[in-house]
Amino acid sequence: MTTNEETFDVIVVGSGGGLVGAYVAASRGLRTLVIEKTGLVGGTTAYSGAGLWFPGSAPLKRAGIDDGDLEEARTYLRDLVGDSSREDLQNAYLNAGVALIDELEQNRWFQSFVHGPVPDYYPSQPGATLHGRTIFPPSVLAAELGDNAPLIRTSIPSERFGYDEGPEINGGRALIGRALMAFLETGNGVLRLNTALESLVVEGGKVVGVDAVSGGQNIRLRATGGVILAAGGYERNGELRTKFSAVPITGEYSNGVVSNTGDALQAGITIGADTDLLDEAWFIPGLIQPDGLPVFHTGTRGGIFVNAAGERFVNETQPYDQTGHAIYNAEATTGVSHSPAHWVFDQMQFERDGIGRDPAAGVDAEWFTSGALKKADTLEELAQIIGVPFEALSRSIEEFNGYAESGVDEKFHRGETPWDQMFHHMVGFAAHPEQNYIVPIETDLPNPLVVPIGEGPYYAATIVLSDIGTKGGLKTDARARVLGQDGRPIAGLYASGNTMAAMSGSVYPGAGTPIGSSLAFSYLAALDIAGEGQAGE
Ligand SMILES: Cc1cc2nc3c(=O)[nH]c(=O)nc-3n(C[C@H](O)[C@H](O)[C@H](O)COP(=O)(O)OP(=O)(O)OC[C@H]3O[C@@H](n4cnc5c(N)ncnc54)[C@H](O)[C@@H]3O)c2cc1C
Repeated sequence: MTTNEETFDVIVVGSGGGLVGAYVAASRGLRTLVIEKTGLVGGTTAYSGAGLWFPGSAPLKRAGIDDGDLEEARTYLRDLVGDSSREDLQNAYLNAGVALIDELEQNRWFQSFVHGPVPDYYPSQPGATLHGRTIFPPSVLAAELGDNAPLIRTSIPSERFGYDEGPEINGGRALIGRALMAFLETGNGVLRLNTALESLVVEGGKVVGVDAVSGGQNIRLRATGGVILAAGGYERNGELRTKFSAVPITGEYSNGVVSNTGDALQAGITIGADTDLLDEAWFIPGLIQPDGLPVFHTGTRGGIFVNAAGERFVNETQPYDQTGHAIYNAEATTGVSHSPAHWVFDQMQFERDGIGRDPAAGVDAEWFTSGALKKADTLEELAQIIGVPFEALSRSIEEFNGYAESGVDEKFHRGETPWDQMFHHMVGFAAHPEQNYIVPIETDLPNPLVVPIGEGPYYAATIVLSDIGTKGGLKTDARARVLGQDGRPIAGLYASGNTMAAMSGSVYPGAGTPIGSSLAFSYLAALDIAGEGQAGE
């Protein structure tokens, strides 16, 4: 039973990337409510590095990179994504990215995004660039955000491992902190935490609000202009993952926030919205930690990944989404288990890079006591501990060591692309906020990323199929309007980010596409509600 009703112009469901759309709506004088299921603002966006793949945007131009009239970027995106998303969606994304950043940079909280050189993920694709098209927001001091600073979700290392965030807010937390301040400063923005969308209210064929639960109370929130569903994906909904995925996924291994359980997707489906790409996710290889759960793993230099048959199956250094998809596809088609896979390396790799995000911090004993990291004096013993055939494992290593000698990984071409090399300072990378993660290479190997596996002791860590959000969802048009089964927009309903079927289809074109999509489509939704809907077309 609904006991309370309130009316706004716009309701945004979810406080991740949708917060930017909320700001845009509020900045146009629209009374805008953001409801957030949890007690914290930011969702998975707050966990992120806040890279935004926005070709042609002003920060790129300031860095001397001109994507001109976006033709090159359009070619790159179109050739890659093909028909796995609508072409008008792809164009809307590109156009919106430029316009949004121009607009945001007018606001004091969003001034001066910076370019960070992250090569596009498909370097041989027409239109790909070495410098990439990714921009980042600058850090901000927690003190500048005042009472709002504690509302921002902390990072995964802080939530799970108790790392101190310190006085500076960076990455996705900075983006969220800045968006929250800009939104509230409009004077038209209301934030309601611990308030979860349950269903959509439809009257006369139009979505006019949401039924929600707020602090245990059922409430009806009305929106005269529109409802923007920006509630992330369904990465944490085991039932939906099982239903849509070709391989068993429960959601437990996702790196998305636990509150992303597909509520908005289901509310949209209930009122007749169409969906697409529901078997897709922004897949990643996850490295199991001592707490038994994975974190986003990228930047492998030494060692190899092997499946349950002891065979190498992937270029371990390629963009994470491609490795994630390789695990997913192998799991679905080969009959051999690839999740878990085993990251096998030697003592030299262990001493040089450690295993966590911060090699300098060393490797705590709990890595071994928890079983997250296994150690053996000989390869034979290691094979036995991890349960893979020794002959196959040693054959895989011998073959890989042969590639190390020639410098050419004939099977998977490891270390050959700018992206592979970027993580090891072989390609300029200084402006990237994650630069502490990078270990510069001093080596005389013919291919510094194909390092032979040498003397023991030997180690094995566990790699599992993980993700940073699902990417299937509600179908939208170029104005972020949710489409019904008949292909026509459902009046009053919009979707963005991982609640919508991704404009990038089954592909991850470059660093910052997920959050880019969250920002761009919540922006387009806000513009449409404000009567400026043609802007992205
Ligand atoms: C470590 C890490 C690094 C990453 N780095 C990048 C990067 O640099 N660039 C990039 O583009 N992507 C990155 N990603 C991926 C990216 O962060 C996510 O895919 C993206 O942020 C999802 O944005 P969103 O707005 O769709 O959802 P979210 O940011 O997750 O926001 C959704 C919000 O909706 C709330 N919600 C859910 N259900 C309801 C409901 N019923 N009612 C009300 N609220 C609800 C959730 O609690 C959540 O706060 C990274 C991810 C991780 C984990």
